[in-house]
Amino acid sequence: MIVTIDGPAGSGKSSTAAAVAGRLGFRHLDSGAFYRALTWAVLAAGIPTEHWHSLTTAQLDALNVRGEPAGSGYRLFAADQDITGLIRSVEVNANVSPVAALPAVRVWLLDRLRSAALGVDLVTDGRDMGTVVFPGAEQKFYLVADAAVRARRRLLERGEAAHDPERLQSEIGRIEARDRIDSTRAVAPLRRPADAIDLDTTNLTFDQQVGVIVAHVMEWRRVHG
Ligand code: C5P
Repeated sequence: MIVTIDGPAGSGKSSTAAAVAGRLGFRHLDSGAFYRALTWAVLAAGIPTEHWHSLTTAQLDALNVRGEPAGSGYRLFAADQDITGLIRSVEVNANVSPVAALPAVRVWLLDRLRSAALGVDLVTDGRDMGTVVFPGAEQKFYLVADAAVRARRRLLERGEAAHDPERLQSEIGRIEARDRIDSTRAVAPLRRPADAIDLDTTNLTFDQQVGVIVAHVMEWRRVHG
């Protein structure tokens, strides 16, 4: 069974997907982590921004970025280096949407993300998991939340002062900029899958949003066997 959770930056998809996977005994595939890992490797290789649009499959292959199953999720590697802990930096945040908008990057990751679903029950989160990567997924969710709430969550996650109005405002700006690039790109933009269940998490606690999704999946399994 495949469960997809899509939505804009900071809507709580990844942490929710991980907890849902844990409760159901499914594997968790955080597709954003793969885009982040590739971005980290592009930056680490020193490929200048003006060359990104002409990146070839061979160049992407040479970065040797891959996810290896670990626990209920994946660890991300670039060559021999485990970069799982390095892909949420401010620098990766600032560059990941432009990298993810490159058609060559999306083609390169598509098969890799799909092959992660072979032979396992999967909860996966991202921007196009229900629309492009797994259009036939059994259950799809679309998570949204007010930009201010998303920014506040992001700051808290990073241990920064979420009550500081200036910081909050600049985080809202960064989140909205990322949403804009993700929703307006030509290939696989952020879209609500037509058959998704909507979940606005603005006023939900983490446990509530996990609970709602788990309940839907369990009901689906009860009905479909
Ligand atoms: O989910 P997360 O914020 O970690 O994703 C980082 C970036 O990766 C997103 O802003 C988006 O540009 C890209 N992404 C994507 N398609 C996905 C998942 C993530 O384009 N399925």
